[in-house]
Amino acid sequence: MTLKLFDTHTHFDVPDFDHDREQLAYAAKAAGIEHLILIGFLQKRFADLLGTHDFINHLENAPQSHLAPGLHPFYIEQHQIEHLQDLEQLLKNQNCIAIAEIGLDTFLKQHKQAEMFQKQKDFFAAQLELAQQFDKPVLLHIRKSHAEVLHILKQQQFKQGGIAHAFGGGVEEAKAFIKLGFKLGITGQITNPNARKLHQVVQYVGPEHLVLETDCPDMTPLCCQSSTEQRTRNTPANLPYVLQGLAKSLHMNKEVLAEQLWKNTHQALHLAI
Ligand SMILES: [Zn+2]
Repeated sequence: MTLKLFDTHTHFDVPDFDHDREQLAYAAKAAGIEHLILIGFLQKRFADLLGTHDFINHLENAPQSHLAPGLHPFYIEQHQIEHLQDLEQLLKNQNCIAIAEIGLDTFLKQHKQAEMFQKQKDFFAAQLELAQQFDKPVLLHIRKSHAEVLHILKQQQFKQGGIAHAFGGGVEEAKAFIKLGFKLGITGQITNPNARKLHQVVQYVGPEHLVLETDCPDMTPLCCQSSTEQRTRNTPANLPYVLQGLAKSLHMNKEVLAEQLWKNTHQALHLAI
């Protein structure tokens, strides 16, 4: 029996997949991926995001595609106020499952600088407001800014929940996001036995608060990496390896875990099972 899986975070619309997207979509479906989410990051990519979404949903024997447009904090220099209006139009005119990926990212030095960080916070808050207005969950991108993201979510009294994507925080941060109604997104990093903090977090919070994602074309599971020097492209068809890694970390049966994660995903995305 093939397990039913939901890839909650993909960049399957990017040009890395232009030459073989159709074949990879069939491979994903054959591996049990019933649904995938296309995640937004830049306004200039919105048209391609929609195009890929329609393309996948016209294929037979492919996963069902869902749209989650948004403005990513890492690309903050490129975002303009008008892009928020374009996002609002998409939310009005398309059937969007969430707003993504949004949050804060202070990995780069120039993003820690007061003015840029303030712009990230303003765009994050504005998109949370849109999520409240349209009653959508959000998929969060958080890098070196867990406390600030939590602060803004509380300040905005955000109740729609969603997923803290590629969760990289510790146990205390995990507890705080769960308390605010979020699930934690688990990537191929879980296949790395040296990712100690991540294993500690999933073992502490347990399977009820987790969902799966590939974050393709990044975060390739260890088993699928063909070289240690060069990045191997990740694809939605690799999601079963993420499940396998998580089942191993939790000492759980894969089938039982997959069923729990399926439920969690539907809950996080406000979907009926
Ligand atoms: Zn992403």
